[in-house]
Amino acid sequence: MAVMEIKNISTFYGNIQALHDISISVEEGEIVTLIGANGAGKTTTLMSICGITPVRSGEIYLDGKNITKISPHKIVEMGVSQVPEGRRIFPQLTVAENLDMGAFLRNDKDGIKQDMEEVFFLFPRLAERRNQAGGTLSGGEQQMLAISRALMARPRILLLDEPSLGLAPLIVQHIFEIIKKINEERKTTIFLVEQNANMALKIAHKGYVLQNGSIKITDTAENLLSNEEVRKAYLGL
Ligand code: ATP
Repeated sequence: MAVMEIKNISTFYGNIQALHDISISVEEGEIVTLIGANGAGKTTTLMSICGITPVRSGEIYLDGKNITKISPHKIVEMGVSQVPEGRRIFPQLTVAENLDMGAFLRNDKDGIKQDMEEVFFLFPRLAERRNQAGGTLSGGEQQMLAISRALMARPRILLLDEPSLGLAPLIVQHIFEIIKKINEERKTTIFLVEQNANMALKIAHKGYVLQNGSIKITDTAENLLSNEEVRKAYLGL
C-alpha cells in the first residue's frame, strides 16, 4: 500500500482551476519529486495534501486512510510534516527551541532527545549553533533547521516545498545530499516539490512533471533525466 495516494484531485481558487485531475502515488521509502515551472501548481498540490486549500474533487489517502476532508492539524497529527517554501522557522527562538517545537505532538522525552542528537549529527552546523537565534542563521542553515524541525515529528511522510529556493548552488547540493541521506538512513518517505528539476531528479526514485495544473509525464527519475522533452523544458539542455 502506498504511504500517500492522491487520486484525481482538482483544486480551485474561486473560479480558477489550479489543479486538473491530478494523481500521484508515493510508496514507502521512496523519494518522489514533483517538478514544474513557476505557477504550475506545485505549492497548490502541497496545500491540498495538507488540507489548507481544500480540493473540490478527488481523494487523498495516507496509509490507506482518506484524509481529504480532515482538518490541517489532524493531518499533521497523522504523520504529514511539511517544510514550507520560505522555511518559516521561529526567528526569535534558538535552534534547539525550534527543534523542540517540531516535536510538540510527542511526549517521549528520551526519544525527542535522541532525535535531536541525530539531527545534530546530520547537520553539525546546527549543533554548533544550537543556542543561536534561528533568525540569525544563514539561508542554508535556516533550510537545514526547517528540515530538521519537520523530522522531529517523526513523520510518515516529509513534504518539502522547493528546498533549493534562493540558495547558492553549493549549498543546494549539500541540502540535497542530506535529503538523500535522510531517506536512506532514516528510511523517511519524501515528497519533494522542486523547480530545480536537475537536482531533484538526481536524488529521487520517481518523478511527476506538472504543467499548467496537470500531470504531463510520470516516470522513474532516471528515465526523466534522459527524456528529451524534460531535458529541453526543465533541465535547460
Ligand atoms: P511557484 O514555484 O511560483 O510557487 P507553483 O508551481 O507552486 O509556483 P502555485 O503557487 O501552486 O504554483 O500556483 C498555481 C496557480 O494557482 C497559479 O496560476 C497561481 O496564480 C494560482 N494561485 C495560487 N495561489 C492562489 C490564490 N491564493 N488565489 C488565487 N490564485 C492562486
